[in-house]
Amino acid sequence: MRALITGINGQDGSYLAEYLLSQSYEVHGTIRASSLQNDRKLVNIKSIFEKIKIHQCSLEDYLSVYKLISEVKPDECYHLAASSFVNYTFCDETSVILTNFNSTCYLLSSIKELMPRCKFYFAGSSEMFGNADKSPQDEETKFNPRSIYGITKTSSFYVVKNYRECQNIYACTGIAYNHESPRRDFSFVTRKISQSVAKIYLGITSYIELGNIEAKRDWGYAPEYIVAMHNMLNNPRGPTDYIISTGLVYSVRYFLDLAFSVVNLRYEKYLKINSLFFRSLEKNDLIGNSIKIKNDLNWESKKKLEEVIEEMVLNDITLLKDGR
Ligand code: GDP
Repeated sequence: MRALITGINGQDGSYLAEYLLSQSYEVHGTIRASSLQNDRKLVNIKSIFEKIKIHQCSLEDYLSVYKLISEVKPDECYHLAASSFVNYTFCDETSVILTNFNSTCYLLSSIKELMPRCKFYFAGSSEMFGNADKSPQDEETKFNPRSIYGITKTSSFYVVKNYRECQNIYACTGIAYNHESPRRDFSFVTRKISQSVAKIYLGITSYIELGNIEAKRDWGYAPEYIVAMHNMLNNPRGPTDYIISTGLVYSVRYFLDLAFSVVNLRYEKYLKINSLFFRSLEKNDLIGNSIKIKNDLNWESKKKLEEVIEEMVLNDITLLKDGR
């Protein structure tokens, strides 16, 4: 089996690549040209670099995507690449639309032309629910995105659904809630916290600045979420969309408290609230009901948030000690 992963160097892409290699897949992945020159952008795939095939591909360009599909000829395609920063202020929105929406269309169109039997996974997001009118959300809940990121994910969702229903392509969307790990990007609050705790513990810094610590998230563990993606493309029931979530919500304050307790410190002593990190428009607390994927594919989130936090903090201490 041959798999193609867009955004293979990201948190999810790198875990998925490792998982598929362990299942004897031939793994191909796309990376932005600018990332290939930047060691920091390749850190997640360093250990498997020799085992995977990297393609420099501009997903915003139809010809590049068409050539990619004709060259790789994948059996499964996982479209994870996206401009992922959640911005509610509509800043640089056209480039986010170009990357996130057009790339999905170009991939599906090329697959339909060249590899109509290729199965397609699209990385949807809880941001598609935005200002949800129901909680917890399930596969029937109305979308109401509030960010450009959420809008591009919702519009792509309908493209995927139409390729499935009208073009007979095995295409589906996983509506994943936040999922964290030691490979989480530093722009997310969880990694910001784990790295700051590590720095404070090692005496590198003496405080952490955050915004709204009462915000809540449904936080899962990334290495489990990529298994759900693979299960979705190997679904005996055929292609359908699923919520991927824990069904539990915790506040940033709770995360902070547990992260500091990993090194036996109290967060109150080190926390500064900075209005710079508040968002102008916060979405409602989103929580996912993942009973459908549990019933159909026997997938459920298992790792407790406390364990995820401990792993992230200890990993950041090790990285800093090693000077990485
Ligand atoms: P996302 O908003 O779900 O994509 O995930 P983030 O990790 O970026 O943010 C999660 C929550 O943490 C949001 O409600 C933020 O408002 C809140 N938050 C509080 N302080 C910070 C901060 O310093 N950085 C980030 N990224 N989020 C923060």
